[in-house]
Amino acid sequence: MQRETMCIQAGYEPKNGESRMIPIVQSTTFKYDSSEDMGKLFDLEASGYFYTRLQNPTNDYVAAKICALEGGTAAMLTSSGQAANFYAVFNIAGCGDHVIAASTIYGGTFNLFSVTMKRMGVEFTFIDPDCSEEELAAAFKPNTKAVFGETIANPALIVLDIPKFAKAAHEHGVPLIIDNTFATPINCRPFEWGADIVTHSTTKYMDGHDAAVGGCIVDSGKFDWMAHADKFPGLTTPDDSYHGVVYAEKFGLGGAFITKCTAQLMRDFGSIQAPMNAYLLNLGLESLHVRMPRHCENAQKVAEFLEAHPMIEWVNYPGLKSNKYYDLAQKMMPNGTCGVIAFGVKGGRKAAEKFMAGLKVAMIATHVADAHTCVLHPASATHRQMNDAELIAAGVGPDLVRLSVGIENVDDIIADVDNALKNI
Ligand SMILES: *Cc1c(COP(=O)(O)O)cnc(C)c1O
Repeated sequence: MQRETMCIQAGYEPKNGESRMIPIVQSTTFKYDSSEDMGKLFDLEASGYFYTRLQNPTNDYVAAKICALEGGTAAMLTSSGQAANFYAVFNIAGCGDHVIAASTIYGGTFNLFSVTMKRMGVEFTFIDPDCSEEELAAAFKPNTKAVFGETIANPALIVLDIPKFAKAAHEHGVPLIIDNTFATPINCRPFEWGADIVTHSTTKYMDGHDAAVGGCIVDSGKFDWMAHADKFPGLTTPDDSYHGVVYAEKFGLGGAFITKCTAQLMRDFGSIQAPMNAYLLNLGLESLHVRMPRHCENAQKVAEFLEAHPMIEWVNYPGLKSNKYYDLAQKMMPNGTCGVIAFGVKGGRKAAEKFMAGLKVAMIATHVADAHTCVLHPASATHRQMNDAELIAAGVGPDLVRLSVGIENVDDIIADVDNALKNI
C-alpha cells in the first residue's frame, strides 16, 4: 500500500458483515470464559484485552494505522504528545541515566526534560542541532541512553539533520528518538533516515481539526537492544513485575520496546487515549494525505508573499530558497515540510500587536498545525512576562509572529495578512 491508501485503510480490516468504520469500543473491561484464559493475558502469554488502561481495540486500530504510515513494527497511542515523549524516553532512561536532546525542541518537551524528568534523576544535555559531528560525539557519556530531536522544531522551524544524529547515536550504541509531529509521515518518515523510535503529538496535523488531544509512539524494530544489553537492562533482563519476562527475548526487536512501554508505563502511569478520541484521530488520519500538501502549498505562497512585502523584516520557512535549511528540507522532505511560518514585522512589538489586531481570517490561538489558520504573537501572549532582551535571548524576538497556515483558500489568507499589515 502507498501512504495515501494506508491513511484510509491501514490498521483495520472488517470481516464479513462487520462495521466498515472502526468501532468505538467504549468499555473499560473485557469478559473471559475462564480465569485461566485471563491469567494468560496477565502473564503476557496470550494477546488480548482485559482493561482499557493497558489496551483497547479502537486505540490499537489507530495505532496500527500510524505504525504502517511510519513504516514501523509496533505502535501505541497515548493521551497526549507530552505523554508520548515522556514514555518514549523514560522507557529506556531512568534515574542516573543521561539523554542528549536538540536544544530547539518544543517548549513543553524542553520543560518536561529539563525540569520534571531532571527531578526524576534523568540528566539531559541540550545541544545545538547545527553542531558539528565532533561536538555531537563529545556530548555522549558512558550513561547516555538516547538521543532526542524534532524533524522540524516547533516553533523555531529548524530542520534536524536526522542522518547526522542517527549516525552519532548508533556509534555510541543508543537509539535516536524523533518527534515527527510537524512533518507527519506524509512528508517525512524518520525511520528511512536512521531514526529508531518516532513520537507524535497527534493533536496537531494528524487529528487536524482541533478536536482531540493525543499522542503516539512508533518503534522501527531496528534497534538491537541485545547488542547493547548492558545499557538497556529494562529490556534485556527479567521484569519481576511480569513473572521474569525478558522483553527483548520474548517480543524480539520488533515488539520489545512497545510491549514494555505498554506493560509497565501505561500500566503504572495510565496516560491512555480515550477510545472516542482515537476514533476522532482516525477521522483526521483518513484525510492527512490530502490536507498536508494543501497546508504546504498554502504556506509556501504566504511565505513568498511575506518575503516580498516591504513591512516584513524577516521570514523563516524551510520551503523558501533563502532559508538556511532549504537544501536539507529538500533532501528529507521533497514534497513539503509543514504549514507553520515564523516572521518578523518591521516596527517590533507595537507593530506586531497592531498586525494581530487587524487579522480576521487568521484566528488568535496558541494551537498550531490544523485546518484553521491561526496566529500567535508570543511576546504579547505565551511569553508576555519577558522583556525585549529576555525575548531575544529565548530566540523569540518581540517582533516574532507565528502563523500556522490552514487549508482555507490561500487568497483569503493572503488578503487577510495584507489588510492586517496595512492596519499597522
Ligand atoms: C504540541 C507538541 C507536543 C505536545 O503535544 P500535546 O499533544 O500538546 O501534549 C510535543 N511535540 C511537538 C513537536 C508539539 O508540537
